[in-house]
Amino acid sequence: MTVTSSRIWDALVVGAGPAGATAARRLSLAGASTLLLEKQSLPRYKACGGGVPARTLRLLNNLDIAPVSEGYVDTIDVSRFGRRQFRKASNRPLAWMVMRDRFDQFLTDLAAESGASVRDATPVQSIIEGDGCYEVETSTGAVRARHLLAADGATGPTARWLGIDSAPTRSAAYEVEVVAPRDALDHWHQAANVDIGYRPWGYGWVFPKDGKLSVGVVTAPNRGRTIRKQTDRYLGRLGLADADVLNVQGHPIRYRRSIGEPVARGRALLLGDAAGLADEFTAEGIAYAVHSANLAADAVLNSNNPAAVYTESVNQRIQPELNAARTISRLYYWCVTTWPWLALTASRHINYLWRAFFRVMRGDSTYTDELSILPFDERLTQALSGDA
Ligand SMILES: Cc1cc2nc3c(=O)[nH]c(=O)nc-3n(C[C@H](O)[C@H](O)[C@H](O)COP(=O)(O)OP(=O)(O)OC[C@H]3O[C@@H](n4cnc5c(N)ncnc54)[C@H](O)[C@@H]3O)c2cc1C
Repeated sequence: MTVTSSRIWDALVVGAGPAGATAARRLSLAGASTLLLEKQSLPRYKACGGGVPARTLRLLNNLDIAPVSEGYVDTIDVSRFGRRQFRKASNRPLAWMVMRDRFDQFLTDLAAESGASVRDATPVQSIIEGDGCYEVETSTGAVRARHLLAADGATGPTARWLGIDSAPTRSAAYEVEVVAPRDALDHWHQAANVDIGYRPWGYGWVFPKDGKLSVGVVTAPNRGRTIRKQTDRYLGRLGLADADVLNVQGHPIRYRRSIGEPVARGRALLLGDAAGLADEFTAEGIAYAVHSANLAADAVLNSNNPAAVYTESVNQRIQPELNAARTISRLYYWCVTTWPWLALTASRHINYLWRAFFRVMRGDSTYTDELSILPFDERLTQALSGDA
């Protein structure tokens, strides 16, 4: 490896998704020299429903995302295999709707405005841990940095190169973006569809955007081969079989299940999907990506042992949420696949559960707090959050 410059960056961030862009912004705002490298040309497409839970904005210091927002949802429309059941409304936005190419570009532009150097179309190709710094080979030459923040997503290579064996649990997700007819856009105005009944767990979604709909299915990884057919069937039930398709993409989502799964080593930290920080109830990861970026940047800025500090922060601040989400997921998906009509009747009438979910989405509460109110004994909680 030939290092083309004698410069040593304070931090090198790999990947310009929500995790990498947020970390680069926070680091450079604090005065750290920061280089953000992205494999693809920006703006880049990312398979994603593009539902940004309202609580994410708090983690971004109430950032105004109006320039890239395509609306919001405040209502959940529940169906079972496309058959409409009921709607539940929150009185405030639950999630903002974005197209990920524009949203991620927006966050990356903010990082650049804060002083970070951004290079797109520059894949990281290998990493060597040198004396006091990382030597990183890229498609345009080698660079060196004292800290490495790996935000290269669920399929990124950085964790493997660093020998960090992170988050092996996966699910499959498949997303189709379609141009929607006017009546469908009116029907889904400010409403997200959640379609239940998928085995062994999972759900279908419709998220409304400007003139289009994101439709997809998330389910167990061993259903990866059938997920495309499931999504086509779902589109058919929604009356969208003939809609013009703008994008189709499948992508895994990874889940960190215990504090025993490493998220850091030395001065290298894994952020967002690279660390498996997505929750097993909703399969969303944008809020956790941003949260982990904040924690990682703070660990780099304020500690001589960033791996230990960051690991402790993730274990204390994020992992309890992922564990609670997994417990809820087990209980919920077990009920809706075992006793569907009972589960639907109960969820239609027990408004408390919806209010709790809405509070979590908005950031007014957490899964952990909501779960602690329920009369579960410790053994049931452990059994529900154990391996599938
Ligand atoms: C189908 C689907 C739907 C989803 N819907 C939602 C949703 O509605 N709401 C939600 O909150 N979450 C959703 N998620 C999860 C969400 O997309 C992720 O949790 C989120 O993108 C994680 O952000 P990140 O920054 O960690 O990684 P990413 O957004 O994946 O960004 C990683 C970046 O790293 C880059 N990269 C990879 N390798 C290299 C390399 N060698 N060198 C340089 N750069 C590299 C990639 O090109 C990419 O830009 C969904 C996921 C899927 C698959």
